[in-house]
Amino acid sequence: MIVESSLTETRRIVRAARGRGVLIGCIPTMGALHQGHVSLIEVAQWECGFNVATIFVNPTQFGPHEDFTRYPRTLDADVEMCRAAGADLIFTPPVSAMYAESAQTIVRVGGLAEVLEGSHRPGHFDGVSTVVAKFFHIIEPDRAYFGQKDFQQQLIIRQMVADLDLPVEIMTCPIIREADGLAMSSRNRYLSVAERQQASQLFQTLLLAEKLAAESTLTPPEISRQMADHLSSVAGIEVQYAVIADAVTLKLLQHRSNPAVALLAVKVGSTRLIDNQILRFR
Ligand code: AMP
Repeated sequence: MIVESSLTETRRIVRAARGRGVLIGCIPTMGALHQGHVSLIEVAQWECGFNVATIFVNPTQFGPHEDFTRYPRTLDADVEMCRAAGADLIFTPPVSAMYAESAQTIVRVGGLAEVLEGSHRPGHFDGVSTVVAKFFHIIEPDRAYFGQKDFQQQLIIRQMVADLDLPVEIMTCPIIREADGLAMSSRNRYLSVAERQQASQLFQTLLLAEKLAAESTLTPPEISRQMADHLSSVAGIEVQYAVIADAVTLKLLQHRSNPAVALLAVKVGSTRLIDNQILRFR
C-alpha cells in the first residue's frame, strides 16, 4: 500500500492502475478511522481492483466555531487500518495543496443542501461538495463509497454527480454501529462516559420511529414529535432536529408514504451527533 500526499503523483499512480484495466474505487474520509470507514474500504476492495482512501480533514466543511483544529488526527493508526482493509493507496494531501490562496471556485448543490444539516451548518455542504468534486477530478474513480451514516451527504453527492455528468458511480454503504446501537463516528471519542451512555438513546429513538412507522397509524409529524420528546427526556441531550423526510427529496413528510427516512441531530454536551434510519410505512 502506498501513502501519497502529492496530487500529481496520485494522479499518475491511479492512471497507471487504470491502464492495467482495473476498476478504480475511492473512499473519501477525514481520518480517525473506525469500523464504519473500514466497512467502506472492504466493500470497495471486493468490487474494485485499485482502491484509494483519502484522508483529509477538510477545513472548508467546518464552520468558524466548529471542531476543525481539535478534530482527531491519527494518521499512523489510519494507515494500518487502511492496509488491513485492503486499500491500495492512501491520498493524504496537505491543505495548501488542495486549496490555493488564489482559489475562487466552489461547487454548491442547491435545495438538498439547504435543509437539515445545511441549515444548522451553513456552508458545510459547499465544503463537502467542493472537496469531493476535487477528489473525483484527481482520482477519476469508477466508483466512490459513502456511508448512509451521512444520509444527506450521499444524496447531495449523487445530485452533484448527476448535475455535473461526472463519470463515477456513487455507492452507499450501511451504517456500522457499536453494540448498543450508537453509530460509529470519529466524534464519539469526544464523549465522556456519561455522555456516551446518553448517546445510545439516539438509536433507541430511531427504533421507536421504526416501530411507530411499521405498527401504528401515526402520521410522520406525530412520530417526529415522539422522537423529539424521547430525546428531550434524556438529560444532557439537546435536540437540533428529529424529523421524518422523503428519502429522495428530503422534504418533510406529512402523510405516511415511502420512501421515508427518520433523521436526527443532537448535541450531547458539546458534541454534535447525527443518525438516521430508513422507515417503511405500511
Ligand atoms: P468522515 O471521515 O466522517 O468524513 O466519514 C467518511 C465516510 O465514512 C463518509 O462517507 C461517512 O458517511 C462514512 N461513515 C462514517 N461513519 C460511518 C458508520 N458508522 N458506518 C458507515 N459509514 C460511516
